[in-house]
Amino acid sequence: MIIKIRRDSETLEEFEVLLEDNTLLEVLEHIKSTKDATLSYDHSCRSGVCGSCAVRVNSKEELACEYKLKDGDIVEPLKNIKIIRDLVVDNDDAQRFNQKSNAWLESYIKTDVSKEDEKQNELQSDCILCTSCYSACPVYEVNKEFLGPFALTRVWKYVADKREDDIKQKIELIQNNGIWDCTLCGECTIACPQGISPKDDIMMLRSKSGVKGYMDPNFSTMSFGGFDPNGGF
Ligand code: SF4
Ligand code: SF4
Repeated sequence: MIIKIRRDSETLEEFEVLLEDNTLLEVLEHIKSTKDATLSYDHSCRSGVCGSCAVRVNSKEELACEYKLKDGDIVEPLKNIKIIRDLVVDNDDAQRFNQKSNAWLESYIKTDVSKEDEKQNELQSDCILCTSCYSACPVYEVNKEFLGPFALTRVWKYVADKREDDIKQKIELIQNNGIWDCTLCGECTIACPQGISPKDDIMMLRSKSGVKGYMDPNFSTMSFGGFDPNGGF
């Protein structure tokens, strides 16, 4: 089997391996131990839980520990994210956006949380911080200050949490470079290995923002065929 691996953002290097029915991570380990000790990639749990081995295979985001490699596959690092070496990327931006949007329980109200309440944000709790959604996001590709799918999904997790007392502050923090910049293309939802839909969470945050008195800043500059949303014609 032949696979090609992107090395240091430049050349695609070809490797021949005599392995069948193996995961990409197993094949990378085989190459590193038998052919090229300098090959760099990230991994930790080996069971799809830590998210650290996310890469792109044939231009699609995959977890190396879960993806079964096929002959001719092209393996590259995640897109839109600074490359440290070979398949290793720097995920600091995702953490920075998490901080910037206060994506945690900020102001705690003591209240009973039922099973039904837990279901509201159960799925978002499964996020493994693989950053595949940033790799797939066309807005983050052109605007590196866009809070992005991972951080916004986490904001929704805590906005939907009935124990959070300061929803207004969270909503305020996602107005600029946040929910209104998203094009709702859904690429993040397709890329997520955990079945989370950041796009749906962003739509929920938009709706919540409307209830709190915010609106899309582009609305006032949109054309409505003669109708002016600000009152003129
Ligand atoms: S839906 Fe929004 S956040 Fe998701 S990939 Fe598209 S632009 Fe990015
Ligand atoms: S939302 Fe999905 S794709 Fe994005 S970091 Fe979390 S698990 Fe990965």
